[in-house]
Amino acid sequence: MVVDLFSAFPPQIEDARHRARVIKPKAYASTRNFLDGAVTRISPYITHGFLSLADLAVEIEMNYPADECEKLIMEFGWREFFQHVWRHQGERILRDLKPGLTGVKYASDLPPDIVEARTGIPVIDQAVRTLYATGYLHNHARMWLASYVVHLRKVHWRAAADWMYGHLLDGDPASNHLSWQWVAATFSSKPYVFNAENVARYAPAWASPKTAIDISYEELDDLARGPQAVKPEWRCELLPPCGVPPLLAQPASDNASVTTPKASPVLEFGAWLIHPWDLGEHHMVNTTMKKIGIIHQPFHAQLPWSQQRWDFVLTRMRAITDEIFVGDLNQLLQANPSIQLHATETYHFGYREALSSAQVTLAPVRRFTKDPEKLCASFSRFWAAVGREKLQKKWHK
Ligand SMILES: Cc1cc2nc3c(=O)[nH]c(=O)nc-3n(C[C@H](O)[C@H](O)[C@H](O)COP(=O)(O)OP(=O)(O)OC[C@H]3O[C@@H](n4cnc5c(N)ncnc54)[C@H](O)[C@@H]3O)c2cc1C
Repeated sequence: MVVDLFSAFPPQIEDARHRARVIKPKAYASTRNFLDGAVTRISPYITHGFLSLADLAVEIEMNYPADECEKLIMEFGWREFFQHVWRHQGERILRDLKPGLTGVKYASDLPPDIVEARTGIPVIDQAVRTLYATGYLHNHARMWLASYVVHLRKVHWRAAADWMYGHLLDGDPASNHLSWQWVAATFSSKPYVFNAENVARYAPAWASPKTAIDISYEELDDLARGPQAVKPEWRCELLPPCGVPPLLAQPASDNASVTTPKASPVLEFGAWLIHPWDLGEHHMVNTTMKKIGIIHQPFHAQLPWSQQRWDFVLTRMRAITDEIFVGDLNQLLQANPSIQLHATETYHFGYREALSSAQVTLAPVRRFTKDPEKLCASFSRFWAAVGREKLQKKWHK
C-alpha cells in the first residue's frame, strides 16, 4: 500500500489552513469519485473544529464562480444535513431509523478476516489497511467497505459503524452512523451496492476481478436482499493478518498534562470548557479566562478511539488549553457549583446533556446553512428547506 504524504494529518492549525488554501473546487467536482481525485482530505480538521464549515464555505464561494464550487458546497451540505438529523434524533441515530431489508438476518460482530484485512478481495483489504495506517478513507472506499460488510457478509451496520468510527480521525457519529444506515437502507430507500467494474474505474490500483463482487448490479441487489452471506475468498487463508490497532476508551496514561477526576481543576473565576470538537482558533481571543480541555469518559467508553485519534486530539487540546480534565463532566460541574462556565454546543452523547446545565453558557456551533426547526427526513428536503435546491437539480441531471 502506498501512503502519500498528504495522507498524514498533523494536528496543527497551519496544516488545516494549508488544506483549505489548496482546495480546487472545479477539479473536485469532476474527479471526486476517483480514489486519487482532487478531494480535500480536510475532514479531521472539520470534525474537530480546527476550521468551521461556515468559514470554509464563505471563502470558497467568494473565490470561485458559483458553477465551479457548487458540487463541493453540496457535499458540505451533506454534513450539515447529518448534523441536523443528529440534533433532532439524538441517540436514535445509533439504531435503525426505519426497518431495513425484510427477511435478512445480520450478525452482530465483524468477522476476523474483515478486521484483519484478509478477505481476499483487494479493494476491501486495502481499504481496511489504509484506514488503520492513516485514520482516513476516501468517501468511495467508505461506501464500498460498508456495502460489502452489510450486504455481502450480512453484518449489522451498527457493529461495523462503531469500528470504522473508532479508527477514523474524522469519525463523527452523525456522518458515520447515518452514512452506514444510508448504505444499509435503514436511512434510504434501497441498499447501496457496487461491483468490481466500478472499483476498476475509480480505484484501478485496488481492482478486484474474479472475486465475489465481480458480478452485475442486479445480482448484487439480489444478494443484498437475500438471506445468504458470501464467504471470504479462498485465498483469505493464505493472507497474513494485518495488525489491528486497539480502540481505547481513554487516552493512554503516559499523556502529559492530563488531570484525573481525583484532581479536578479548581475553577475560581469561571472558565471555558473546550471539548474535542471545538479545537479552533477562536479560543485564542479570550486570554483572561482559564481554558479546560474536557474528555467526558462515558462517551468514549461507548465509542472508543484509536491511539492515533487520541494523539491528534490531545496534541491540539494541549496547545490551546491550560489543563485537560479526563473523567465524568458532571462531577467537574458538581465540584464547582457556583462557577459560571462557557462552552460551544455539541450533540455528542453525554457531553450534550452535561453541558446543558444552567451553569454553562453555550455558544452555538457556526453553520453555513440554516438548521430547519422541523426534521427533514431526506437530504433533498433539507437542501430545499435551506434554500439550495437549485444546485441539487443540476447535480442530479
Ligand atoms: C460509510 C461512511 C462513513 C462515513 N463516516 C464519516 C465520518 O465519520 N466523518 C465524516 O466527516 N464523514 C464521514 N463520511 C462522509 C465522507 O466520506 C467524508 O466526509 C469524506 O470522505 C471526508 O474526506 P474529505 O475531507 O477528503 O472529503 P471531501 O470529499 O473533500 O469533502 C469535503 C468535506 O465535505 C464534507 N463531506 C463530503 N462528503 C460528505 C458526505 N458524503 N457526508 C458528509 N459530509 C461530507 C466533509 O466535511 C468533507 O471533509 C462517511 C461516509 C461513508 C459512506
